[in-house]
Amino acid sequence: MNVLVCGGAGYIGSNMTAMLEAAGHTPVVYDNLSKGHREPVKEAKFVYGDLSDYDCLLRTFKNFEIEAVMHFAAFIEVGESVNDPLRYYENNFSNTRTLLRAMETAGIKKFVFSSTAAVFGTPENTPITENESKTPINPYGESKLAVEKMCGFLSQTGRLNYAALRYFNAAGAGRGSTLGEDHCPESHLIPLIIQAAMGKRDDIKIFGTDYETKDGTCIRDYIHVEDLCSAHLLALNRLDETPEQIYNLGNGTGYSVRQVIDAVKRVSGRDFRVTETSRRPGDPPVLTSDSTKAREILGWKPKTPQLEKIVESAWKWHTSRPDGYKG
Ligand code: UDP
Repeated sequence: MNVLVCGGAGYIGSNMTAMLEAAGHTPVVYDNLSKGHREPVKEAKFVYGDLSDYDCLLRTFKNFEIEAVMHFAAFIEVGESVNDPLRYYENNFSNTRTLLRAMETAGIKKFVFSSTAAVFGTPENTPITENESKTPINPYGESKLAVEKMCGFLSQTGRLNYAALRYFNAAGAGRGSTLGEDHCPESHLIPLIIQAAMGKRDDIKIFGTDYETKDGTCIRDYIHVEDLCSAHLLALNRLDETPEQIYNLGNGTGYSVRQVIDAVKRVSGRDFRVTETSRRPGDPPVLTSDSTKAREILGWKPKTPQLEKIVESAWKWHTSRPDGYKG
């Protein structure tokens, strides 16, 4: 299948592109390189384009005979979304609306969308099933939920077959640890701890130690980036028969910030300074996934569920490319 990968130069998108190639599909990366990198897109065709550019999208669909779209091109920082909500509504919502309009015009029905556990806000029940109530507590989660709803309404018209995949915490590096995280600025826990272990930052700050959790720090469900991508492939293959698919993707096991720090200490064999600071706005205390639905319907099975192995692959990536892709 010819698959347009919007945001295919980014962390998850580049892993997806590599996996699509390996599976015999023809990915075409569409990216404005505002966050992503050209280097990881080695084999795939590349279009330098913006999601707000309706005409460019239409031309790309036509030129490459696109049959399905996967969409990873979103802003992802909770804290930034709290400080600048409009930026999130504009990129994550409005630009996705433009993309869907262009798909509708071109008659492309297949769509796989990167959603997030942030749609659940502070859930009442964990692990979280797909049916948990959705009340986001930050603009990032709200912008993703708005897209999910838009896709739902559009699919009811018969003009869209979509899968919304709600990621818990994507981590690790794919393709033999050669496709890893290289965000600027970096805001995610595992790469930041690794930077501290590599001596690239003075310390790792724990955002909040007074949560109602076993050690007072936030609990998250870390999932290897390749396990996320394999669920996309499975969902893509079912779009013809199931026009509306929504799955929570995680391993189901929660790790506190302190446990993740300990895992990096064990894997790296290094010690570093840990500083306890106040809570980060917009952070729910516990997010863990019940992914029974993805396992049962898609037959999805994560290959690397162990935190230690996820951290190992991230450590390999960061130590082999200390300056990221620009190195
Ligand atoms: N976190 C932290 N220090 C950091 C970065 C993150 O304590 O320097 C915490 C953050 O508050 C959250 C968890 O680590 O509880 C995971 O944060 P991340 O930004 O990686 O992912 P999120 O869960 O926000 O998607």
